[in-house]
Amino acid sequence: MLCPNCKQKLDSDVIDEQQLLHCSNCGGTFFEENGINRITVKSAQSLSSDLKTTEFSTEEKQCPKDQSLLRPASGTENIPPDVTLYFCNSCKGIFALPNDLFIFKRAQSAKIDYFKIWRIPLPSIRSVAVLSVFLFISVLSLATYLYWQNQYAYKIEAEDLIKNNYVTVSSRYLFFTFTTDLPLKSKIVFSDKTTGQTIAKIINLEPDTFHQLITSEININNEIYYQIIIFDERGREGRTEMKRLEIN
Ligand SMILES: [Zn+2]
Ligand SMILES: [Zn+2]
Repeated sequence: MLCPNCKQKLDSDVIDEQQLLHCSNCGGTFFEENGINRITVKSAQSLSSDLKTTEFSTEEKQCPKDQSLLRPASGTENIPPDVTLYFCNSCKGIFALPNDLFIFKRAQSAKIDYFKIWRIPLPSIRSVAVLSVFLFISVLSLATYLYWQNQYAYKIEAEDLIKNNYVTVSSRYLFFTFTTDLPLKSKIVFSDKTTGQTIAKIINLEPDTFHQLITSEININNEIYYQIIIFDERGREGRTEMKRLEIN
């Protein structure tokens, strides 16, 4: 497969568990659907510095996989004005030139940090991530009550603990966020009633008031129930009721 920018042969690679194609001539990288959102700033930096020339063609760019014309996008809600990303409408892949990739990832990370530092839940994952497919899931009355597994633990109402819960889905990925007034550790258990599978994921290993999970392990087309488990520094634990994930 050839580079959309300089037409040199692309190398296939897996970075941060994302399959990608990289051109070590011009430093361009082609990501599979949503892959660009999942790599770290550090990986973006090393991809961006793996190049021999900085000559960029102004010609129209073609998808290395299906030869569709790539559509440039710049200065949107999630792409800074000085960055251009090239989108393939057929395979949903994204091509980025080296500088654009690095600036995009740095801007994305800074924006997420901003929300995190100010304890603001993300308005939507689309405000930071470039996503191809987008659906909203609402979690209706997330936790009607919380019960304590440990009978010696203190009782606290769930409504007082879990706030601003957002569940968003983009193709294979489920984005789950909530906040707590107090810094707490958290995990979540998903129960897939269709496959009978139970998947437990740690959200925060260290106490925090912002809780965010991004996972591709949940098939939202199935009947999914979930339960949030929170802990404090003294090991006191609380669980929400098992709730069903519902699509609007
Ligand atoms: Zn190239
Ligand atoms: Zn394509």
